[in-house]
Amino acid sequence: MNDDVSNPSAQAIQKGVFGMKIGYVGLGSMGGALARRLQLAHAVHVYDLDKAAVARMSEQGATPCASLAELAGRCDVILLCLPTSDHVRAAIFGDNGLASSLKRGTLIVDQSTGDPVATRAMAAELAPRGIDLIDAPVSGGAQGAAAGTIAIMVGATAAQFTRVKPLLEAISANVFHAGDIGTGQVIKLVNNMLSAAQRLLTFEGMALAVKNGIDPQRACEILVAGGAKNAFMEKFMAPNILKGKLASGFTLGLMHKDVRLACQLGSDSGVPMFFGNLTREFYQMCIGERGSEAQVHTAALVMDRLAGTHVVPSDADADM
Ligand code: NAD
Repeated sequence: MNDDVSNPSAQAIQKGVFGMKIGYVGLGSMGGALARRLQLAHAVHVYDLDKAAVARMSEQGATPCASLAELAGRCDVILLCLPTSDHVRAAIFGDNGLASSLKRGTLIVDQSTGDPVATRAMAAELAPRGIDLIDAPVSGGAQGAAAGTIAIMVGATAAQFTRVKPLLEAISANVFHAGDIGTGQVIKLVNNMLSAAQRLLTFEGMALAVKNGIDPQRACEILVAGGAKNAFMEKFMAPNILKGKLASGFTLGLMHKDVRLACQLGSDSGVPMFFGNLTREFYQMCIGERGSEAQVHTAALVMDRLAGTHVVPSDADADM
């Protein structure tokens, strides 16, 4: 570790609190942004299958680990941000995974957006070994993480929440206790089902306005001032999509996964999901057309094709 206190990363390491050694697994669009934020206040050990992502974090002062087992052996608190709960299960219980060298008393904080049933099952499997697993998924994008404003939705017992809150507050001031283990995932799925539907309805409304003679910028300006104003329209429509900027760091595949899990939860708990299911199928169609790795905003191009409109300018960065 770097002891040079004139170096900003060394100063951050010296600020390390609680005597806890912290690890971060999954340094993609979201996990990378969350780990970088955490690193402003704490020394962080990192691991990702993608060596380039680990190298980028190391250059900024993080300590690289060669394997999940090595990271687990070194750390008392381990945060993960992986695509799905299946990836989290593989990282914990797979060959040479975290579970092979986790110490009693370790706290695992799953920041992936996942399946609450899977989260509860993993927590129950680890509990007899004296290891806590809680969920703390996020909403607000990589920009929200970088700005320290991202919403963190924690599913944990009251005691676990008290233990983890100061650490999560190093990432963002917006840390919420949703309820017991798994409820962070529940509220995150509700959040993404709503935001996924909101953006599709916004694309549909914009196509209707444009097809019937209104300039896209003017339509957006009027709608933002009226009762139809919504967060997506305000934050992304005029500033990004109408300017052809479709990169967001979030893919169609991840959005479809979130809405699919929300619909599954509705089915399992007896809640009708009329709009959730329609929304899920629209994203499925977008994936068929553009691929699961395409940026989520490319759904606007699919709406334009269906409506025969040009809400998105023709020089959009659709291949990002
Ligand atoms: P991503 O695909 O950009 O990154 C995933 C990272 O996990 C990759 O770097 C990959 O190499 C790594 N990985 C996969 N399996 C691994 C393993 N076994 N061990 C170590 N590393 C492994 O995905 P993302 O956009 O960062 O999303 C991660 C999670 O965060 C998802 O559940 C997503 O739904 C959620 N999320 C993303 C955003 C966003 O804006 N991108 C916003 C909110 C929530």
